[in-house]
Amino acid sequence: MPELPEVETTKRGIEPYLENQSITNVLVRQKSLRIPFNDNLNKHITNVKIKNIKRRAKYIVINFVNGYSMVIHLGMTGNLRASQQEKFLKHDHIVFSLESGNSLIFNDVRRFGLIQIYKTKDSFYLLDNNGPDPFDKEADADYLFNRIKNSSASIKSILLNHKIISGIGNIYASEILFNTNISPLRMGKDISYEDCEKILHQSKLILKKAIKAGGTTLNDYFNAESKPGYFKIQLNVYGKEGEKCPSCESKISKITQNNRSTYFCKESQN
Ligand SMILES: [Zn+2]
Repeated sequence: MPELPEVETTKRGIEPYLENQSITNVLVRQKSLRIPFNDNLNKHITNVKIKNIKRRAKYIVINFVNGYSMVIHLGMTGNLRASQQEKFLKHDHIVFSLESGNSLIFNDVRRFGLIQIYKTKDSFYLLDNNGPDPFDKEADADYLFNRIKNSSASIKSILLNHKIISGIGNIYASEILFNTNISPLRMGKDISYEDCEKILHQSKLILKKAIKAGGTTLNDYFNAESKPGYFKIQLNVYGKEGEKCPSCESKISKITQNNRSTYFCKESQN
């Protein structure tokens, strides 16, 4: 599943192709995505200058100067590529032709992704369900501490709760908690203000590393052949059950929380 670093990399990858452009035509080859593409609103985004491209959580938002926006989510297997090709690949569902002669192509094997057009001021309900991601200014220690100080949910499940904080995938959650020496089992109410600072700091550090790693694989990614997943970063604990902990002599444990695997060191994290 594309995680925040890949979505950010995709956004940065398509941005140069969309700047100062307008969409001249929308070709819908398959509209039944996770939510059917509302191409009845196409006229609002066609021949209108693109104002900017943003990322919010795992959504890419293209804003137009006329007060309309288009949101794109990559779902499980979606990807976007800018291309001049006229022959389409299997699973190329929506093709946006640009003034420049390039096209922005949405490809999605499993069709769990989505594209929706909406009035910018009305926003889009799935975007509104997302809490800030670690890079957002509002996601500071005050925010996190206040959101979790009464919670009896585990900090691991809190980090995966996109309503509280978005964009932290399962692998990154284990790594963030290892780097902060916090047990994934500790409850939200037992997480101190200082812990919140550490968690946010490590979240940004790890996601930045992954975005950087993504930068080096961008060309492959745009071949549309690569499988979306996690960018390769050096992992300390995830997937390393039974191996020696990088900071002590103990072995790394694996447990299941909310049906997701968690890896951690019982000695180093408490
Ligand atoms: Zn350890």
